Amino acid sequence: MTRQHVAARVDLGAIRANVAALRAATSAEVLAVVKADGYGHGLLPSARAAVAGGATWLGTALLDEALELRAAGITAPRVLAWLIGPGEAWADALAADVDVSVNAGWALDEVVAAARQTGTTARVHLKVDSGLGRGGAAPADWADLVEAARKAEAEGVVRVVGLWSHLAYADAPGHPTIVRQAEVFREAVALAEGAGIDPEVRHLANSAATLTAPEHHFDLVRPGLAVYGLSPVPDVAGPSSYGLRPAMTLAANLVHVKRVPAGSGVSYGHIYTTERETTLGLVPLGYADGVPRAGGNVGPVLAAGRSRTVAGRVCMDQLVLDLGDDDVAVGDEVVLFGPGDDGGPTAQDWAEATGTISNEIVTRVGPRDPRVYVEGGREVTP
Ligand SMILES: *Cc1c(COP(=O)(O)O)cnc(C)c1O
Repeated sequence: MTRQHVAARVDLGAIRANVAALRAATSAEVLAVVKADGYGHGLLPSARAAVAGGATWLGTALLDEALELRAAGITAPRVLAWLIGPGEAWADALAADVDVSVNAGWALDEVVAAARQTGTTARVHLKVDSGLGRGGAAPADWADLVEAARKAEAEGVVRVVGLWSHLAYADAPGHPTIVRQAEVFREAVALAEGAGIDPEVRHLANSAATLTAPEHHFDLVRPGLAVYGLSPVPDVAGPSSYGLRPAMTLAANLVHVKRVPAGSGVSYGHIYTTERETTLGLVPLGYADGVPRAGGNVGPVLAAGRSRTVAGRVCMDQLVLDLGDDDVAVGDEVVLFGPGDDGGPTAQDWAEATGTISNEIVTRVGPRDPRVYVEGGREVTP
């Protein structure tokens, strides 16, 4: 399906350069996180651009996403999938040379069964919960998990190639939980290594820790948001301070323009009323495209060379702009967010206007909005 009048333009050169900047910021290897369709930027093009920028690993939440990378011929980098559930397609993971995260005995049992059946050795990353309170094994369960993994290693069906954890508060540099989590992680690593596990990589850092906490990089860092050029610590510094540039521009063409008198109510509920005679422009993007409904009367848009605010409610498929007396016509392009260096709004601006984080703004751009790939300003087929 090609949709006219809307484009999520993705600058592949920006993704490549962002990964190169992240590489330059660490002596660890870089795993580029491409989960959730590359944070909305497109799984395969983002992955290829990240690898071209120097990522030696790729990371996904879902095993399906990891398998899609391999099926598309992305063979060189290591690929890790971490959001694993019972009955997972373990055999497919083994056949595709995908590393899997294991955080509990049942998951180890399932991957061991698949490895026995297929006569292969599963590459496993054991995950400990060092304090995020999310996916890892509780520290109290860690010794048992390590022991079970050692038994599987002795049998030759598993190789523990990674030990890892995830931070709760890396976006608040200096937060006391960061050092505390790193300590818990180091203890878990020491216990595993003491039991004979010899991992290729130990990893803890997301984008924020990659940029602000070099002491916690270990052997591998796992940036996601920063790969796409957005700042994981917007209260501290914008992306350009880290040599990053936002890769996605969400743009649309005006599909209707009309003069209306003063006092005209605009969009559902008339939460906006024109102050004087003015021109209204209709933008064919709404909350079904991922534009937050909370952006009514507050979301920023660049139109006719000026930043403005959405007029009235954001609807399912459309929103309205009050363009004053500016010279606009049907077909003119407006930009909801982009790199920001043209004076236009960024995904971070939308996040601040609507009470969320930039990750959510780019990731929610809908599947019906075509991704258009550009390199140096020119459209390319990735
Ligand atoms: C999403 C995710 C990352 C990347 O996080 P960013 O904050 O986007 O850099 C890293 N590790 C894990 C486990 C994740 O789920």
